Amino acid sequence: MPGAPCLIDRYAAYLPVSERTPRLTLGEGGTPLVRARSLERETGVPEIWLKVEGANPTGSFKDRGMVVAVAKALEGGARAVLCASTGNTAASAAAYAARAQIPCTVVLPAGQVALGKLVQAVAFGARIVSVRGPFDAALAVVKELAAAGEATLVNSVNPLRLEGQKTAAFEVCEALGDAPDALFIPVGNAGNITAYWKGFVEATGAGMARRRPRMFGYQAEGAAPLVSGRPIAEPETLATAIRIGNPASWKGAVAARDESGGAIEAVSDDEILAAYRFAARCEGVFVEPASAAAIAGLRKRAKAGGLEGVRQVVCVLTGNGLKDPDRARTLAGEIDEVDASADAVRRAIGGMGGHRPPNA
Ligand SMILES: *Cc1c(COP(=O)(O)O)cnc(C)c1O
Repeated sequence: MPGAPCLIDRYAAYLPVSERTPRLTLGEGGTPLVRARSLERETGVPEIWLKVEGANPTGSFKDRGMVVAVAKALEGGARAVLCASTGNTAASAAAYAARAQIPCTVVLPAGQVALGKLVQAVAFGARIVSVRGPFDAALAVVKELAAAGEATLVNSVNPLRLEGQKTAAFEVCEALGDAPDALFIPVGNAGNITAYWKGFVEATGAGMARRRPRMFGYQAEGAAPLVSGRPIAEPETLATAIRIGNPASWKGAVAARDESGGAIEAVSDDEILAAYRFAARCEGVFVEPASAAAIAGLRKRAKAGGLEGVRQVVCVLTGNGLKDPDRARTLAGEIDEVDASADAVRRAIGGMGGHRPPNA
């Protein structure tokens, strides 16, 4: 089949689109669902799947919602788009705006955006401004700017974003033949957990699933307003994508938690980093730190005995590890530079860890 699959076409029956909606696409959605054998061995859960959203065109799940938001903006005659972002929304908005040939403005929390995301926004030609303050302050600024009507706001306060993002729940149900027992997902602005729950509810109505999963959301300890029950003025975590103190979709997240019989819990930055290493080294899946929060939560809950009766889990890995190269670089010390000889390399490595096959 030539060309990239178009998410809008594939799920048109479940999205607020019509024939008039432009079929904007960069090949978003249709991401891999990968079995996680090392995590299964560690946690004792019989079946764990990783939904690898870092395989989307700009490397995060944001593309699912962005393609719908920008297509509908075009359909409505918009001439520009605007967003606040911890990085991935900016990368995605900038890419789809470039694709649609309209200008994109992104407002970033100064000093808090991972390098890979920033260079994407630069490469796609977005107009970029940093503001002093956390993401929440940047969001307040773009809401005010959008009210003037010059550009369409494409943050997840735009309900079209969540419509597009819910398609990931459809894909999970299609791949497994039903919804899993439990879904583990990182929570920042709380749009994605809200979107997945909407997707699972609609999936049962549409015959894609017979049941709904328990929803387990994970925030970083220093940015866990949904756990403490009140907004946080100065959120702090190395997982910059979930460094948010006052989630826009607060009510949606709480509804997903309560209606599903799930939980929203906190994990420490150390637990996030340990899960980040584990995903890369024991599963071969390189994610960004925010995504690792979901794995950290799964490991923590399993250790505490909190997965009674849970046989099948899906863990949403929201973004690609290449987004945050500075963090990845801290996983290893200096790399030796030696002469270009087998002897020198052998001395530096000390051994390659393999074994000479018998009879070789
Ligand atoms: C946006 C984002 C999140 C948080 O999603 P919310 O919808 O804001 O809760 C988590 N991980 C990554 C990689 C993200 O880009």
